[in-house]
Amino acid sequence: MRPLIIRDDDTSYFTPPEKLEAIYSPLWARNLPVSLAVIPALRCDVRVLSREGAPYDPSIPPERRGDSNAYPITDNRALCAFLNRKVEQGLLEICLHGYTHSYHEFAASDSSLLAAKVRDGLALLREAFPDADIRTFIAPYDVMSPQAIQVVLEAGLSLCTASRNLIGLPDLPALPPYAAARLSSGARLFTCDEYLFHHRDSAENCLANARERLHSAETFILSNHYWSFFHDWQDAHTHSRLLEAWHTFADEAMQARHITTFQDVPL
Ligand SMILES: [Zn+2]
Repeated sequence: MRPLIIRDDDTSYFTPPEKLEAIYSPLWARNLPVSLAVIPALRCDVRVLSREGAPYDPSIPPERRGDSNAYPITDNRALCAFLNRKVEQGLLEICLHGYTHSYHEFAASDSSLLAAKVRDGLALLREAFPDADIRTFIAPYDVMSPQAIQVVLEAGLSLCTASRNLIGLPDLPALPPYAAARLSSGARLFTCDEYLFHHRDSAENCLANARERLHSAETFILSNHYWSFFHDWQDAHTHSRLLEAWHTFADEAMQARHITTFQDVPL
């Protein structure tokens, strides 16, 4: 069977474990893994400058929006304990998702600043998840400068990014969306260009698009934002058509694909 990697972005200090459970428990009940892109120290004053009115990043809880502090994930002991149990059970791959998740954080060109963010971010995640093998980087907003890509690969990390970020880089293969390659360094490179289950689209469209990719994508990386299923910070038990559509898709995907992780997919 062709592979499927289920990636979920933006877990941070503020993430309620019951939301992750509500989305992924059908997979975990069958011992299938999810790749979680974790923000080491989320800043609460990040605005999405590309959207009209520059709203705060939707991964920030409404009551904290505008707070200029950064919140290290290590300070949420209950969340770390929950995630560490999943890591021990082989049900979670932890990936590095920027450092503070500031807007276009890895579109910067200052290599020494970017390298410090990767180093400090990894240190925080390794403190939070001592038994996790953290090998893969995913940039906030999926935007990366050539310098950022170089810094990530020089740190020995594998990378999952939008295919447009690879255009014109002479040392890397120009991969289409939903592709994977092993680099001469041993690092792995993956492409994913879209978020299929999204609160801005109808649940029916999300499901139809995901089914199409289930059929067509070679190395299928299905990227979610857990908060999108509960937009805008509703409780986990809130009735959600998007969540129902996701569970329908997950049932079909478990039959159709080999569900694996960035570090375990055969390349
Ligand atoms: Zn993100």
